[in-house]
Amino acid sequence: MNPAPTSIKLSAPGGVLVKWNDGHEVTYPYAYLRQRCPCATCRDTPPAVRATPDPFPLYGKDVIRVTGAASVGHYAIQFNFNDDHATGIYSYAYLREICPCDECRKASGA
Ligand SMILES: [Zn+2]
Ligand SMILES: [Zn+2]
Repeated sequence: MNPAPTSIKLSAPGGVLVKWNDGHEVTYPYAYLRQRCPCATCRDTPPAVRATPDPFPLYGKDVIRVTGAASVGHYAIQFNFNDDHATGIYSYAYLREICPCDECRKASGA
């Protein structure tokens, strides 16, 4: 069975909540997703993102969040981020591969 989400909630507490077709359920923190953007630009230069509110507001960078998403065919999802970045196409296989839960991190040897 290829991994595919059965539901995606963009504004779950702590990030994007994905329910998979094998029953796996996991929240991807926004910064985690953004830093793993698979587009060519981000792979060349991993983006600097802010995961927690800035203690020095002068620097003025918003906490990263997902503002929207669109499905791409039957195999991927594209996230829009509040830093105006929306070119990353996250295939379901990739998204599952980067699952941040302990179980999956262990399984992938990270
Ligand atoms: Zn990108
Ligand atoms: Zn997992």
